[in-house]
Amino acid sequence: MASFPRTGEIAAQVKAVLERLGVSPERLSGPNAARSPLTGEVVAHWGALSGAAADLAEANPGADPTEAAIGRAHAAFLQWRSVPAPRRGELVRLLGEELRAAKVDLAALVTLEAGKIASEGAGEVQEMIDICDFATGLSRQLHGLTIVTERPDHRMMETWHPMGVVGVISAFNFPVAVWSWNAALALVCGNAVVWKPSEKTPLTALAVDAIFSRATARFGGVPEGLSTLLLGGREAGEALVDDPRVPVVSATGSTAMGRAVAPRIARRFGRAILELGGNNAAIVCPSADLDLTLRAVAFAAMGTAGQRCTSLRRLFVHESVYDALVPRLHQAYGSVPVGDPRELGTLVGPLIDENAYTAMQSALEDARAAGGLVSGGERLGAEDALDAYYVRPALVEMPFQADCVAAETFAPILYVIRYSNLDEAIGLNNAVPQGLASSIFTTDLREAERFLSATGSDCGIANVNIGPSGAEIGGAFGGEKETGGGREAGSDSWKAYMRRATNTINYGSTLPLAQGVTFEVG
Ligand code: NAD
Repeated sequence: MASFPRTGEIAAQVKAVLERLGVSPERLSGPNAARSPLTGEVVAHWGALSGAAADLAEANPGADPTEAAIGRAHAAFLQWRSVPAPRRGELVRLLGEELRAAKVDLAALVTLEAGKIASEGAGEVQEMIDICDFATGLSRQLHGLTIVTERPDHRMMETWHPMGVVGVISAFNFPVAVWSWNAALALVCGNAVVWKPSEKTPLTALAVDAIFSRATARFGGVPEGLSTLLLGGREAGEALVDDPRVPVVSATGSTAMGRAVAPRIARRFGRAILELGGNNAAIVCPSADLDLTLRAVAFAAMGTAGQRCTSLRRLFVHESVYDALVPRLHQAYGSVPVGDPRELGTLVGPLIDENAYTAMQSALEDARAAGGLVSGGERLGAEDALDAYYVRPALVEMPFQADCVAAETFAPILYVIRYSNLDEAIGLNNAVPQGLASSIFTTDLREAERFLSATGSDCGIANVNIGPSGAEIGGAFGGEKETGGGREAGSDSWKAYMRRATNTINYGSTLPLAQGVTFEVG
């Protein structure tokens, strides 16, 4: 069993890591308190603006600072769009180098500020490095099609151009990786970026801002404001959402947030990349390898204390293997080490805050009322870390998919439901409003292919013999329905950060019109 951190020991560590990461002390003052979920204590302070945006506000007293920051980002874009893409890729390559150099400290800060266990903190920074590598290569591969035309001596082609300022709104649970998925692509595509991180994780954002500044200093000649950090709450996000100088807004967070921002962006015909809540399921078939399934389910459901958008929340187990799997799951849930995420051996760190704990308890109450058998879910370590919320992950055997199962509760709760045929299980997988990630555990080819087919999972991510969480950056990431439909990271996600122009070129001396239309004048 892991231990729990003692209140009072985190602030000094945060201060030391921020110093090593090069966050200047002026950025660490202001009216807002930054808390660590490890103990719930205040570990630093921050102001509404930071980095380039703060410098700008100082230079322009009286001007609206958010307005001015977006204005400067737009001006940066006007220059950056003309820099050749492979050269833009060089900036992102340097960012990747700086992230490699800062990996240990930034990962430690992710742990201190977001509560991830050490290996997941390191994994998050590795993901940033990976997307930088990907985007650097991409900077030489931004390409369009050449298409045959019906007209003689004509050629048709597609060209891709930068959009402008890309606004990034991010959630607390991936405090730095989400910025990098967006920023690395947006920058090589020729855009500027304004980032509004979660108000729960301002310190990691300040650290990334400092790391980016080191990359720009090495690159030389980067226009001021190319990447701007806007710290603040919902209002700062709303400023990005409503500003017509921000043609693309990539918003990651709850479905409630997406429901608020999507119509506002649509009202001005902006482009929204929405990465919202998930309610991810896995189906365990009769032929499943149960050892592998057990490990995959444990990581997907309990990892990151159930605070991943792709966390496994619903498990449909075939009746023929239910009694072989579920008791082993109970055993794993009862013994998983919960506690100080800095300690080697801890697998489950704290929830982000009290609200998360309250939401978890209320979901468990609803599950009990619907006939669920709840084990786990209790608070741990409260005598050491007074204002922190460590919980034993909860395993809930449900008689059916009740309303509380169909809602995303951002906490480690796994609902287990018995099924008897695959159609029924796929139906249950799809019978929720969200559509992010899903998995099937089977060694039967027909079942696996059925799950991946048009009549299978309706999610943006569908896996076989892998849990729904822990995606690689090479694939496009995102989901359907109330998850928002956006795609980020790999594959051709870059297209969302560019505008497509279709060009038709007449290299002849006559003017044949398409569809045989004639129009003779004179
Ligand atoms: P949240 O919705 O509370 O906040 C996310 C961000 O949106 C924050 O920066 C917040 O300040 C901002 N925001 C909130 N309301 C806004 C508004 N009206 N206008 C503009 N900005 C606004 O989410 P959270 O608690 O930080 O994160 C957890 C949620 O995020 C979960 O639902 C999780 O599934 C989801 N998530 C989704 C993905 C994905 O890729 N699909 C990734 C990570 C997290």
